Amino acid sequence: MTSKKTDVVVIGAGPAGYVAAIRCAQLGLKTLCVDSWLNESGQASPGGTCLNVGCIPSKTLLDSSHAYQHIKTETKEHGITVEGVSIDVSAMQERKRRVVTLLTKGIEGLFRKNRVEFVQGLGKLVGDKQVTITSSTGAATETMRVDAEHVIIATGSEPAALPQIPIDGNAIVDSSGALAFEEVPKRLGVIGAGVIGLELGSVWNRLGAQVTLLEAMDTFLPLVDQEIAKDALRNLKRQDLDIQLNCRVTGTQASETGVQVNYKYANGATQQLEVDKLVVAVGRRPYTHDLGAETVGLKLDARGFIEVDEQCKTNLPGVYAIGDVVRGPMLAHKGSEEGVAVAERIAGQQGHINYETIPWVIYTWPEVAWVGKSEEQLKGLGADYRVGVFPFMGIGRARAMGETTGKVKIIGDKKTDRILGVHIFGPNASELIAEAVTAMECDASTEDLARTVHAHPTLAEALHEAALAVDKRAIHI
Ligand code: FAD
Ligand code: AMP
Repeated sequence: MTSKKTDVVVIGAGPAGYVAAIRCAQLGLKTLCVDSWLNESGQASPGGTCLNVGCIPSKTLLDSSHAYQHIKTETKEHGITVEGVSIDVSAMQERKRRVVTLLTKGIEGLFRKNRVEFVQGLGKLVGDKQVTITSSTGAATETMRVDAEHVIIATGSEPAALPQIPIDGNAIVDSSGALAFEEVPKRLGVIGAGVIGLELGSVWNRLGAQVTLLEAMDTFLPLVDQEIAKDALRNLKRQDLDIQLNCRVTGTQASETGVQVNYKYANGATQQLEVDKLVVAVGRRPYTHDLGAETVGLKLDARGFIEVDEQCKTNLPGVYAIGDVVRGPMLAHKGSEEGVAVAERIAGQQGHINYETIPWVIYTWPEVAWVGKSEEQLKGLGADYRVGVFPFMGIGRARAMGETTGKVKIIGDKKTDRILGVHIFGPNASELIAEAVTAMECDASTEDLARTVHAHPTLAEALHEAALAVDKRAIHI
C-alpha cells in the first residue's frame, strides 16, 4: 500500500467537496480530493449528484422540454408558423450527456489549474485524520493511505426509498432513472410532489406523458409561502399535471401494461392507478456507506446525518462535514458555500455563511423561487410585518414575452422595514431571486428596493413594484 501526507483530504467531489478542495488549494493548502463516482463508460466523473444525476441533467431536460412545448404552443401567437414539430428523445438525452460530460471534465480541469490532486476511488476513515483510498477503475484495485492535517467529508446523499416499493430500474425508478428514459412514457406516476417530483413530472408532461403525482401531505409545498404555493398548484393543474394530495402510496403490483399503484387517502378511501413508469421521488437521505464512521467514532444523528456544529466541525478534531450529508437544506449552493467557509476556517480565516439568505428554486414553468421567511413562518413567530404583492400581468416586459402568470411578494418588518422574505412565482424566478438575496444579505429595507432604479422594460420591475406595494404606492396597478 502506498502512503502519502497532505494538508487536507476532501472525501466526495460533489458541489460541496470540489468547491472546498479548490478553495483549500487557493489558500495554499496541499489538497487531495477523492470521489467514487464512475460514469456509464466506467470513467471518473467528479461533480457528484449535482452534475451527474441532479441539478444539471434535470435542468438540461427541463430546458429541452420547455423549448419543445414553447414551439408547439406559443409561437403561433407571435405569427410564427412551425409545422411538423417532434421530439427525438434519444437526441435530447445525448445532448444531456454531452452537457454533463463537459462539466465533469471541467471540474477535472479546475482541479489541475488549482493543483488539487484528484483520485478516483472510495475514501474511508481508518484512524485519526487517516483515510484509505481504494481505486477501482480498470481491472486492478489499488489502495493508498493518506495522512492529513484536516479531513472534509462531503459524501452527499442518495434517493430515499420506500420499503414497500422496491426500485427495479425498469418500470419503477428513482430520480436518476427518470432522467434517463429513452422514450416518453404514455402514463407516468410520480410518488412525492416535492421539488424533484414536480421537476421530473414537468419534463415528461411537456413531452406528452399523462402525469399523476401522489403526495402524502395535505399541504402542497409546505415550505413555500402558501399564497405562492396555491398559485403554483392552480397553474400546474392547468398544465394537466394531475396532483393528488393527502394520499399515501401503500404498494405496487406488476400489471400487463406496466405497474398498478395502490394508494390510500387520509379518509381511508383506497385507489389504484395504472402507469407505464413509476418514479419514487420521496426525498433524499444522507450517504455515509463505506465511510468508516463507526470505526473512527464519527457521530451521526438519528436520521443518519453527520453531526456538526455551526462551523461544520464534527465530533472528531480536524474532521469537518459539509453539504447534503449534514443538516440544512439539501441544495448544491448551500454545500458549496459550506465548502468555501470550511476551507477558509482551516486556513485561519473567518469563513461565514448566512443560512437565513439561502435561495430556493423549483424549476417548473413558471418557476417558484424564494428567500427568507414565508408569511406562515412569520405568523408562527408572532412577527409584525407588511406585505407588498405585484403581478407580472402589470409588467410591460412580461406582456411582450407573453409570460404574465404569477407574482412577486415581498414581506417587510412593520417597524424596521427590513426585508424578511421574498417569494416569486413567475417567469425566470430563478434569476430574479438573486436581487432579493443580495438585498437581504445587505440588510436592505423594502424602501431601499423601492428607491433602486430598475431597467425598463424588465421582469425585475415586478420586484421594484412589489417593494413599492409594501407602502401602498405601486404605480402600474
Ligand atoms: P453530492 O453531490 O451527492 O456528492 C457527493 C459525492 O461523494 C458523490 O460523487 C459520491 O459518489 C461521493 N462519495 C460518497 N461517498 C464516498 C466515499 N466514501 N469516497 C469517495 N467518494 C464518495 N440542488 C440545487 O441546489 N439545485 C437544483 O436545481 C437541484 N436539482 C436537483 C435535481 C435532482 C434530480 C436531484 C436528485 C438533486 C437536485 N439538487 C439540486 C440537489 C443537489 O444535487 C444536492 O444538494 C447536491 O448535489 C449536494 O452536494 P454534495 O456535494 O453535498 O453531495
Ligand atoms: P422532497 O423532500 O421535496 O423531495 O419531497 C418528497 C415528497 O414525497 C414529500 O412531499 C413527502 O411528503 C412525499 N412522500 C413521502 N412518502 C410518500 C408516500 N408513501 N406517498 C406519497 N408521498 C410521499
